Amino acid sequence: MSQQCITPFGCFELKRIPDTDKNLQAWNSADLYILNQIFEWVQEGKFDLNKAEILILNDSFGALSVALSQFSCDVYSDSFISHKATTNNIKNNCPNNLDKITLLKSTDTFSKKYDLVIFKEVKSHYFLKNEMIKVLDVLKPGALILGGIMAKNLQKNLMDMLNHVFGAAQASLTWKKARLLFVTNKVGSLNHALNTSASEDSKNSIAHFQLEDTKEIIYNLANVFSRNKLDIGTRFFLQHLPSEGNFKNIIDLGCGNGVLALKAAQTFSDASITCIDESYMAVASAKMTLETNLSLKDHDTNYIAANALSGYVSESEDLILCNPPFHQQYVVGDAIAWQMFKESKKVLRRGGELWIVGNRHLGYHSKLKKIFGNQKIIATNKKFVIIKAIKK
Ligand code: SAM
Repeated sequence: MSQQCITPFGCFELKRIPDTDKNLQAWNSADLYILNQIFEWVQEGKFDLNKAEILILNDSFGALSVALSQFSCDVYSDSFISHKATTNNIKNNCPNNLDKITLLKSTDTFSKKYDLVIFKEVKSHYFLKNEMIKVLDVLKPGALILGGIMAKNLQKNLMDMLNHVFGAAQASLTWKKARLLFVTNKVGSLNHALNTSASEDSKNSIAHFQLEDTKEIIYNLANVFSRNKLDIGTRFFLQHLPSEGNFKNIIDLGCGNGVLALKAAQTFSDASITCIDESYMAVASAKMTLETNLSLKDHDTNYIAANALSGYVSESEDLILCNPPFHQQYVVGDAIAWQMFKESKKVLRRGGELWIVGNRHLGYHSKLKKIFGNQKIIATNKKFVIIKAIKK
């Protein structure tokens, strides 16, 4: 469902991905607050958007990028889905502006300096900090930095982080439950210690931990799920992964740091292993995890940033392993799990198996029964359940 987003730069029909829930829209009032503020600055003659180098970070589904697409913008995100929605929404509203937008992945490095940096909140403060430290190096003198956040998500530690990185940050009054973050880069005038600690933080953005009772090292870039330790659901899943079967093509769907793919590759050493995640950082982390722990000349491995299995070849896979997400940024729900299960059925060959882990209360067994017509509980504990479904 597309809905009309009215901004000072024009009215646009915007869609989310997925766009199955009519109660969810593709933008929020923090987007509008940011656009209103920029429009006011332009009117005041603070800058000329036609001449400015603009960087947009963490645009959810493209509301900011579409509105500003008549100017040249770099659109930086860790989310394949966000980039895809941004491209779709520009195509649908102002196709002539497509070539003015450059999509930058969170794993890319910046190659120019910016006059205006606009950022939206993200759930992981650690990731936001990592982004802000990168931004510090690419600001032109006098660059304006403007953030937008829903008021309920504004925590003191976020302001502390922005103050720590840039030297000064202030939140606006609340408008329609959103607040603006005015950030001033004073680092030039700050002491050497801050500069040193900022660059140390940036260097350390790749966390790793050793898998229990093994020598394996699991790598996690800044925005990866459970980046400092093995997730408890994943730990339970690792204890019950399939140990036999004629699996030649295996997918780790929503691979995160790639720990499930690693174990599958070790068990089924002839199989081709594909790691898929919508987070660019997750895909890069999975690659690091597998390359570090496997002798890759013996393995056929692929790493893909994608929205679940959209566009994947039907009836091609033998085994899909999945620990599905239960939220998309701040929105909690099972829409993506449903999508993953349905697309798995399409992509599995007959006799192929989907194995999943989930919280018991999420009722995944009934979803799998509905989609596959069968399901088998492999293991349960107090919190989690592992289920397999076979494509008949
Ligand atoms: N497999 C890892 C593990 O067990 O530790 C990570 C599981 S985590 C619960 C779910 C993963 O799904 C996250 O890495 C998230 O980025 C990814 N994800 C969320 N939505 C997705 C989508 N639409 N397509 C592909 N991956 C997605």
